[in-house]
Amino acid sequence: MVVTKRISLESKGHGDIIDITHQVEQQVAGVDIKSGIATVFVAGSTAAITTIEFEGGLLADFKEMWVRIAPENIPYNHDLAWGDGNGYAHVSASLLGASLVVPFNDKRLMLGTWQQIVLLDFDNRPRSRQVIVQIMGE
Ligand code: ZN
Repeated sequence: MVVTKRISLESKGHGDIIDITHQVEQQVAGVDIKSGIATVFVAGSTAAITTIEFEGGLLADFKEMWVRIAPENIPYNHDLAWGDGNGYAHVSASLLGASLVVPFNDKRLMLGTWQQIVLLDFDNRPRSRQVIVQIMGE
Protein backbone atom coordinates (compact mmCIF):
# COMPACT_ATOMS: atom_id res chain seq x y z
CA MET A 1 0.00 0.00 0.00
CA VAL A 2 1.08 3.56 -0.68
CA VAL A 3 -0.24 6.56 1.25
CA THR A 4 0.72 10.14 0.44
CA LYS A 5 0.61 12.78 3.18
CA ARG A 6 1.62 16.43 3.37
CA ILE A 7 3.18 18.64 5.99
CA SER A 8 2.71 22.40 5.55
CA LEU A 9 5.12 24.74 7.27
CA GLU A 10 6.42 28.27 7.28
CA SER A 11 10.15 28.93 7.12
CA LYS A 12 12.20 32.05 7.67
CA GLY A 13 14.55 31.23 4.75
CA HIS A 14 18.26 32.19 4.89
CA GLY A 15 19.34 28.69 5.95
CA ASP A 16 16.49 28.14 8.39
CA ILE A 17 16.62 24.57 9.77
CA ILE A 18 13.29 23.11 10.91
CA ASP A 19 12.97 19.82 12.81
CA ILE A 20 10.11 17.87 11.18
CA THR A 21 10.81 14.50 12.87
CA HIS A 22 7.69 14.62 15.02
CA GLN A 23 5.40 15.43 12.08
CA VAL A 24 6.87 12.57 10.02
CA GLU A 25 6.50 10.17 12.98
CA GLN A 26 2.85 11.22 13.34
CA GLN A 27 2.16 10.62 9.65
CA VAL A 28 3.72 7.14 9.80
CA ALA A 29 1.84 6.27 13.00
CA GLY A 30 -1.44 7.41 11.47
CA VAL A 31 -1.56 5.05 8.49
CA ASP A 32 -2.46 1.36 8.36
CA ILE A 33 1.03 0.23 7.35
CA LYS A 34 3.21 -1.61 9.87
CA SER A 35 6.60 -1.57 8.19
CA GLY A 36 8.12 -0.09 5.09
CA ILE A 37 9.72 3.15 3.99
CA ALA A 38 8.76 6.79 4.26
CA THR A 39 10.03 9.11 1.54
CA VAL A 40 10.23 12.69 2.78
CA PHE A 41 10.37 15.13 -0.14
CA VAL A 42 10.23 18.91 -0.29
CA ALA A 43 8.61 20.46 -3.34
CA GLY A 44 10.80 23.43 -4.31
CA SER A 45 14.26 24.15 -5.72
CA THR A 46 15.66 26.24 -2.84
CA ALA A 47 14.94 23.87 0.06
CA ALA A 48 16.33 20.46 1.03
CA ILE A 49 15.79 17.54 3.39
CA THR A 50 18.41 15.71 5.45
CA THR A 51 19.10 14.37 8.93
CA ILE A 52 21.17 16.01 11.66
CA GLU A 53 21.55 16.01 15.41
CA PHE A 54 19.31 18.96 16.26
CA GLU A 55 21.74 20.64 18.65
CA GLY A 56 22.51 24.37 18.63
CA GLY A 57 26.26 24.13 18.08
CA LEU A 58 25.94 21.70 15.22
CA LEU A 59 23.14 23.69 13.63
CA ALA A 60 25.42 26.76 13.68
CA ASP A 61 28.31 24.67 12.23
CA PHE A 62 26.05 23.42 9.46
CA LYS A 63 24.81 26.92 8.56
CA GLU A 64 28.39 28.24 8.52
CA MET A 65 29.46 25.40 6.23
CA TRP A 66 26.85 26.45 3.65
CA VAL A 67 28.12 30.03 3.77
CA ARG A 68 31.62 28.72 2.93
CA ILE A 69 30.40 26.38 0.16
CA ALA A 70 27.96 28.77 -1.53
CA PRO A 71 28.39 32.36 -0.30
CA GLU A 72 25.46 34.68 -0.92
CA ASN A 73 27.66 37.62 -2.01
CA ILE A 74 29.37 36.18 -5.10
CA PRO A 75 28.00 36.38 -8.67
CA TYR A 76 25.63 33.62 -9.84
CA ASN A 77 24.45 33.25 -13.43
CA HIS A 78 20.99 32.43 -12.12
CA ASP A 79 20.76 35.87 -10.54
CA LEU A 80 21.51 37.42 -13.94
CA ALA A 81 18.66 35.38 -15.44
CA TRP A 82 15.95 36.23 -12.90
CA GLY A 83 17.36 38.92 -10.64
CA ASP A 84 15.96 37.13 -7.61
CA GLY A 85 19.35 36.98 -5.87
CA ASN A 86 19.01 33.39 -4.69
CA GLY A 87 21.52 31.56 -6.91
CA TYR A 88 23.36 30.50 -3.76
CA ALA A 89 20.12 28.96 -2.45
CA HIS A 90 19.54 26.89 -5.59
CA VAL A 91 23.07 25.43 -5.74
CA SER A 92 22.95 24.62 -2.01
CA ALA A 93 19.56 22.91 -2.30
CA SER A 94 20.68 20.88 -5.33
CA LEU A 95 23.82 19.75 -3.53
CA LEU A 96 21.95 18.57 -0.44
CA GLY A 97 18.95 17.05 -2.25
CA ALA A 98 15.18 17.32 -1.97
CA SER A 99 14.39 13.96 -0.40
CA LEU A 100 15.24 11.37 2.21
CA VAL A 101 14.11 7.76 2.62
CA VAL A 102 13.62 6.51 6.18
CA PRO A 103 12.72 2.87 6.93
CA PHE A 104 10.18 2.14 9.67
CA ASN A 105 9.21 -0.99 11.55
CA ASP A 106 6.23 -1.54 13.90
CA LYS A 107 5.19 2.00 12.90
CA ARG A 108 8.41 3.47 14.32
CA LEU A 109 11.00 5.32 12.26
CA MET A 110 14.38 3.57 12.48
CA LEU A 111 16.30 6.77 13.22
CA GLY A 112 19.25 7.00 15.59
CA THR A 113 18.66 8.52 19.01
CA TRP A 114 20.34 11.80 18.03
CA GLN A 115 19.21 11.82 14.42
CA GLN A 116 16.42 14.22 13.52
CA ILE A 117 14.80 14.84 10.13
CA VAL A 118 15.15 18.45 9.07
CA LEU A 119 14.06 20.79 6.32
CA LEU A 120 16.64 23.36 5.26
CA ASP A 121 15.32 26.46 3.58
CA PHE A 122 18.10 28.31 1.77
CA ASP A 123 15.94 30.90 0.04
CA ASN A 124 16.50 34.62 0.64
CA ARG A 125 13.00 35.26 2.00
CA PRO A 126 10.40 33.55 4.21
CA ARG A 127 8.56 30.75 2.40
CA SER A 128 5.55 28.48 2.83
CA ARG A 129 6.71 24.91 2.22
CA GLN A 130 4.97 21.67 1.38
CA VAL A 131 6.74 18.51 2.51
CA ILE A 132 5.39 15.32 0.94
CA VAL A 133 5.60 12.17 3.05
CA GLN A 134 4.93 9.11 0.92
CA ILE A 135 4.58 5.98 3.02
CA MET A 136 5.02 2.61 1.34
CA GLY A 137 4.86 -0.82 2.92
CA GLU A 138 2.54 -3.45 4.33
ZN1 ZN B 1 15.86 31.63 -8.12
